[in-house]
Amino acid sequence: MHIQLSAFFAFTIFIGISHSVFAQQPMTLPSAQAARPEDTEVWEPVPKVVKPGVNDAAPPSDAIVLFNGKNLDEWVSAQDKSPAKWFVAGDVLTVNKAAGNIATRRTFRNYQLHIEWKIPENITGTGQERGNSGLFLASTGPGDAGYELQILDSYDNKTYVNGQAGSIYKQGIPLVNPNRKPGEWQSYDVVWTAPIFNGDGSLQTPAFVTVFFNGVLVQNHFESLGETRYIGRPFYKKYDAAPIKLQAHGDPSEPISFRNIWVRALN
Ligand code: MG
Repeated sequence: MHIQLSAFFAFTIFIGISHSVFAQQPMTLPSAQAARPEDTEVWEPVPKVVKPGVNDAAPPSDAIVLFNGKNLDEWVSAQDKSPAKWFVAGDVLTVNKAAGNIATRRTFRNYQLHIEWKIPENITGTGQERGNSGLFLASTGPGDAGYELQILDSYDNKTYVNGQAGSIYKQGIPLVNPNRKPGEWQSYDVVWTAPIFNGDGSLQTPAFVTVFFNGVLVQNHFESLGETRYIGRPFYKKYDAAPIKLQAHGDPSEPISFRNIWVRALN
């Protein structure tokens, strides 16, 4: 009986208190009374001022211009680091297939990159042998070692979908196909988050890549499975900072061209 009575009184008191609290809630809620707009304002650090380009394709003030139409000073042969021997004419860079891949002199970790490329109007060939090139987001060795964002004529050209333009080669199928016709300039805007490795070479965090193709999202924070490979499974291999590389693909189709290449280091 004693316990029951205590419980009864406790319940009665609870009802009384809760009634009075709820009745006055709009006026007396402590957190609402204490919170101010200023509590959630952050004033520092102030973001650095960057002057944007004259249009969204032009390099902003903090970009490293990798190709401005004039020379290949920022590029070397991926094979032997000798001066790059691709063709520069009329503000345009054209692949020299006989000279092999070219890579940046500088190395990068995380970055934002803009590049424009054009499949020649008279392109021939089919599948992977039609305007094939590639942007290696990190080059981890000569040849095709690294992480390739595929470049190909995929306007009207059937191939495996994880190898069409906008794919992370043999890993990430583009979300859509926004290709322009051969003869028209196209663009990639890329955000690359480099993988992080432990001291023993094991993977700590994977690479992520976001790609806008002609302004259309085709890779949305895609988690890389490792280096892209023509044959076999992708894998991660420890690297710190890496050049960016352009592919001279061995197919016999007409060489493609590039222009307006710039990068903003993000680390
Ligand atoms: Mg390729």
